[in-house]
Amino acid sequence: MLSNTKAMLSRAQVSKQAVAAFNVYSLETVQAAVSAAEKAGQPVIIALGERYFGTVDVEGFAAMVKAIAAKSGVPVALHLDHAYEKQSVIRAIRSGFTSVMYDGSKFPLEENISITREIVSIAHMVDVAVEAEIGSLARGAFSDEEEGDGTLTDPQSAKQFVEATGVDFLAAAIGTVHGMYTGEPNINIGLLKQIREAVHVPLVLHGGSGTPDEVIRETIRNGICKINVNTEISMAAVSYLKSLHENAKTPHLSDVMSHMQGIMEESMEKFIRLFSE
Ligand SMILES: [Zn+2]
Repeated sequence: MLSNTKAMLSRAQVSKQAVAAFNVYSLETVQAAVSAAEKAGQPVIIALGERYFGTVDVEGFAAMVKAIAAKSGVPVALHLDHAYEKQSVIRAIRSGFTSVMYDGSKFPLEENISITREIVSIAHMVDVAVEAEIGSLARGAFSDEEEGDGTLTDPQSAKQFVEATGVDFLAAAIGTVHGMYTGEPNINIGLLKQIREAVHVPLVLHGGSGTPDEVIRETIRNGICKINVNTEISMAAVSYLKSLHENAKTPHLSDVMSHMQGIMEESMEKFIRLFSE
C-alpha cells in the first residue's frame, strides 16, 4: 500500500534500520523496486528526481506508482528527490507524492532556511513530509546528479536548520558521493555521531552506491534511516545492455526490458536486506 514516508522512517528510526530509496525513471525500475521489497519483506521508497521531470510524465508516473503500491504487500512511499524549484515540489504534492526533498544546499544557510520553511509550510498542510540537505555531496563517477562542492554538514548548522524549518528528515553530508567513489571512500562516522546528537529527526544518507557494507551498517547504527541508491542499480542494468552488443542475436525489446528488470531487482534486494539487517 502507498504509505506515509514520515511514518515509515519513524519506524525505521525506532528499529535502527534504514529504508532504501531507489531512483526510478520507468515502469521497469518501479516494478523492480517493489518486487525486491516484497521479496525482502521490507518497505521501500520510490524516488523520482526533479531532473527527470523533462522526460517522465510526473502525473502519469505518480498514478502508476500508486496503482502498483495499492497491490503491493509491503509499504511503498513515493518521494521527490532533489528538487530545486518550488513549482516542482507543488507539482509532486498535487500528484500524490508522500514526501519531497527540497535541496537549497547551494544557498547560504539563512536563505536555505527561509525557502525550506516555506516549502515545509506548504507540504505539511497536506501531510506531505519534507527532506532537506545541509552540506553538499561531491559527484563521483557514473552519476547524473548536479556537481556539489563536497562540504560536510556542520552539526550546529544542522540543529539550527532543523529547528528553524521544521523539516521531517535531514540529508547529512558525511563523505559519501553521488555516484561511484573515484578513490577510497572516506566516511566520517564521528561527524555523523555529532549530527545525531544535535538533531533528532531521521537522517538520510545520499550516495549509497559503492559504499562498503560495514560502513553502511555503521551509519545505520548511528542514526541513518533512509539511504538513497541510484548509480549502482543503473550500472548493473547498463552493463547487461552493453553485453548485448557482444551477442550476435538481436533480442526483442520486451525481453531486454524484462531481463533488465530482473537484474535491477536482484541488486535492489541486496541493498534492502543490507539496510534492514
Ligand atoms: Zn542525493
